[in-house]
Amino acid sequence: MQLDFLGDLKRTHRCGEVRLSDAGSTITLMGWVSRRRDHGNLIFIDLRDRSGITQIVFDKERNPEMHERASVVRNEYVLAVTGLVESRSEGTRNPKMETGEIEVLASELKLLNESKVPPFFPGDASVTLNEEVRLKYRYLDLRRPEMHANIEMRHRVTLAIRNYLASEGFYEVETPYMTRSTPEGARDYLVPSRVHPGEFYALPQSPQIFKQLLMIGGLDRYFQIARCFRDEDLRADRQPEFTQVDLELTFPTEETIHGVVEGFLNAAFTAAGYTIERPFPQMAYDEAIRLYGIDKPDLRLPAMTDVKALLPADALETLLIDPSLPMVVIRTPKVGELSRKERDEHKALLSEKQSRVIKFFDDFKRLEKSWPDAIAKIRELSGAEEGDLLVLVAAPRNDAPTNTETAAVSSVDAAAERRHQRDCYAVYSNAGQLRLALAQRYGARHKAFEGKTYKFLWVTDFPSFEWDEEHATWTFAHHPFTSLHEDHMGLLDEGVKAQHDPNSALGAIRARAYDVVLNGTELGSGSIRIHQQDVQAKIFEALGMSEEEQKLRFGFFLEALQYGTPPHGGIALGLDRIVMILAGAPSLREIIAFPKTAAATDLMMDAPTPVTDAQLKELSIAIKR
Ligand code: ASP
Repeated sequence: MQLDFLGDLKRTHRCGEVRLSDAGSTITLMGWVSRRRDHGNLIFIDLRDRSGITQIVFDKERNPEMHERASVVRNEYVLAVTGLVESRSEGTRNPKMETGEIEVLASELKLLNESKVPPFFPGDASVTLNEEVRLKYRYLDLRRPEMHANIEMRHRVTLAIRNYLASEGFYEVETPYMTRSTPEGARDYLVPSRVHPGEFYALPQSPQIFKQLLMIGGLDRYFQIARCFRDEDLRADRQPEFTQVDLELTFPTEETIHGVVEGFLNAAFTAAGYTIERPFPQMAYDEAIRLYGIDKPDLRLPAMTDVKALLPADALETLLIDPSLPMVVIRTPKVGELSRKERDEHKALLSEKQSRVIKFFDDFKRLEKSWPDAIAKIRELSGAEEGDLLVLVAAPRNDAPTNTETAAVSSVDAAAERRHQRDCYAVYSNAGQLRLALAQRYGARHKAFEGKTYKFLWVTDFPSFEWDEEHATWTFAHHPFTSLHEDHMGLLDEGVKAQHDPNSALGAIRARAYDVVLNGTELGSGSIRIHQQDVQAKIFEALGMSEEEQKLRFGFFLEALQYGTPPHGGIALGLDRIVMILAGAPSLREIIAFPKTAAATDLMMDAPTPVTDAQLKELSIAIKR
């Protein structure tokens, strides 16, 4: 087929822009053939670019030569069309199309490129596409209007965030991709060094250390739309590389940082056409666990109600409930009457493991028969309305001898209290999971997850350390640069001596760390950082790092901390997730131009791939096959 050159032809309009007010003028459009209809003497072509579609008409009577050329055109061919904008006649207007009042009568056609028959037609919204095919032919998938809208939304939101942060005095600074391991709790992606055989760079899990060094460097306010790389276990909707809105500032309080984040989220949501309420409410981690059984509460549904004080002793006896542990009621609104069968199906909501920690009672009518006063009070306290489902959750009575392990160094009373708190939290957290399972199950009835309700929340005062069951030791909950509350320094001194004790004082330490949560999803976390070298060294020690190891891994950082490090803090929010929510997209892959699959592969580029022996040799790497 004879193709034309573009030459110096320029487009005058984009395909989605032409309006009735343009009627009578001659315009030039360029784009792809979205659809072609041949009606004999008339050929209609929907010409598409990223802005939309305009209908082009090739009329045999008025321009036989053009009509002839158009007859070879097929879907996805690339055209430049010059022609007269005409008002469509009454019956042929299409109110669903922005350009539906006009059409362009072609007087000149350049055939800029042809196309193989694609595996799917980007302009055909009626077929359900297989995701693997979409990812393999991503460039065709990107031509679909839905993808254009998502990518445009991402651009608009990112720009709004950039502009907001710049207006607040933040500098955008790039930090290296080829660096050394940053401890965010995941596995590193490693890059072998050719020049230093046997040595590796790590791709950053986050710019954490660099941004802290920028604060030591006096830059005062930094941000970056930063790519992060984490080799985590595969899970649907997790990307090995993802983007964070990362920021850090000097001399902040938590309020300063929260204000900046609320400001840029407001800018982002406004850019997407939504208004959000500020300031966001705040809740300490311990309260979140007691009320929601989770550190990222979804505020669209009611909190759990503590009913321990309301259940009479004989009820605990009859229901075989452990009297020392929490008793809560979960309220799921507007569920309505449940059949016996539906109630029976609730049993499957708990795994065997969960059933060892909690038991539940979902037949309040029956409970009411035995303890009418108590149940009436519980109904009232939980705010139950007609049709709401109430489920009482408690710990099963365990008559086995109590756990006799004692804390290694901590005082026995305090250790017993901490053990008790761990048991209580296990009940709350399992109850919280049941709350979410019920919320999901009855989503169609309470409808709380439908519509565009945005409930933001700050969760603050997280534990500094987390017990790692597998390695029987304490590990950091956020990352090891997180400051603890000043009045918890004593607990740190006590706790470093009991690193392998699950009831160690380390578990009671609360951090100056905060998460921003939206509708039950964690959007980001941050903290006020440690800026004193001795405190930082002690944290490393509490994490079981010898002095030697500290020097090896973080020597440069411990050194830097000794040169007048100012108090500083920051946060990072997942940009992909924010855009996904704003675009109403079902998966992260919908808002990333070139995503990876859940198995961390790129189906289009076919990556990862083996490399040649010569490349391996250069890198001094041998592969075990
Ligand atoms: N670097 C941390 C993260 O990626 C966030 C922060 O503390 O600023 O989770």
